[in-house]
Amino acid sequence: MQFEDLKLIDPLLRAVRAEGYTEPTPIQVQAIPQVLEGKDLLGCAQTGTGKTAAFALPIMQRLSAAPSPSNRPIRVLVLAPTRELATQIGESFRSYGRNLPLKQVTIFGGVGQNPQVDALRRSPDILVATPGRLLDLMNQGYIRFDRLEVLVLDEADRMLDMGFIHDVKRIIAALPKQRQTLLFSATMPQDIQDLANSILNNPVYVEVTPQATTVEKIQQAIYFVEKNDKRSLLVHLLSDKAVKRTLVFTRTKHRANQLVKHLSTASIHAEAIHGNKSQSAREKALSNFKSGVTRVLVATDIAARGIDVDDITHVINFDLPNESESYVHRIGRTARAGASGIAFSFCEEEERPYLVDIERLIRMNVPVVENHPYASKLGVPSPTDLSGRRSGNGSRPSSNRSSHSNGQRPQRDANGSNNPARRRRYPTR
Ligand code: AMP
Repeated sequence: MQFEDLKLIDPLLRAVRAEGYTEPTPIQVQAIPQVLEGKDLLGCAQTGTGKTAAFALPIMQRLSAAPSPSNRPIRVLVLAPTRELATQIGESFRSYGRNLPLKQVTIFGGVGQNPQVDALRRSPDILVATPGRLLDLMNQGYIRFDRLEVLVLDEADRMLDMGFIHDVKRIIAALPKQRQTLLFSATMPQDIQDLANSILNNPVYVEVTPQATTVEKIQQAIYFVEKNDKRSLLVHLLSDKAVKRTLVFTRTKHRANQLVKHLSTASIHAEAIHGNKSQSAREKALSNFKSGVTRVLVATDIAARGIDVDDITHVINFDLPNESESYVHRIGRTARAGASGIAFSFCEEEERPYLVDIERLIRMNVPVVENHPYASKLGVPSPTDLSGRRSGNGSRPSSNRSSHSNGQRPQRDANGSNNPARRRRYPTR
């Protein structure tokens, strides 16, 4: 399947060619024809699947088929949970629309509103926004949606997790009922289905890369480690040159900052990205990471949402997430648009239940690296082990420091296999 087969107009075809895309991704193949026909759509897909182009391309094609009325109203609204994701979506519209005379504006909180208000006065066709700031500006009378044609809710599950549901509902209540609505979500829990039922009209459902198959492409490994040894283990892993562009996740902003400091004492340049940083500091950290100036970016879950950086070689879960869906989001940062990647996770005693949940969700038993310098006693097989794994050898730091080979294939897992894709089946929740 080629982009040409999707009946895209020449200005868009030239733009995707300029982006270097050779063929559409599965979500693009499924979604583009439906959106072009004006249908509502419920898309189960995570970031990294090419979903932005899956909605941006056909939306822009529809806009250019019917040129703007003379008073130039906002015709498309895209809601995204975080500033980073909103910015990326805005940038995608700009790149894909480079050969079309469409204007787009992105607005989000955490920065002064005046430049955004000025931008809105320049009559954008497409508005990309985070819910809080949008509602603010709507309440101040700066934005009207009476001629809105298309609404996109991106990463709807995250939007709900972040407590935006009331804002989102208020915004939707102010939109024309007659419109096309697209809702994308990485997961489809009941509350998302309820929201979808209430705002979508006879939607087409498209689903790509269900979680288990996405994670299969990623070479995953667990390191059982004592809490106090996590930092040393991280420094040890980062001493391998094969661990290049690395995204490290911590549970809290404070831990992210602490870790950056610790890494710098080990002469490893790292930067942190999280909600307490100013917008400009976050953008700087992200662009340094993108350009390779910074090798290690330490992030919290929310800040990392939608980080769109190609060629992340490793994701390291310094702390395991307590929400198993976050694990899938996190490690998905390393396998963008078909690439493969490596994800290491540190697991201390208290995080063991999180690991059980994660393995249940992804329906596989993540291989354990048994021989590493900081292996904890957690690696010792336990007959009551809920996940059914027999893992680790409890080896002590001094005895096997040299035998560890990070960045290479993980050691054998419970099934005697060193193939990360080998799976155990768990009942789904
Ligand atoms: P998204 O899921 O929209 O965040 O896209 C993930 C990444 O895939 C981005 O870096 C896009 O530039 C890239 N991408 C989107 N569509 C394609 C395609 N058809 N071929 C190659 N890369 C793509």
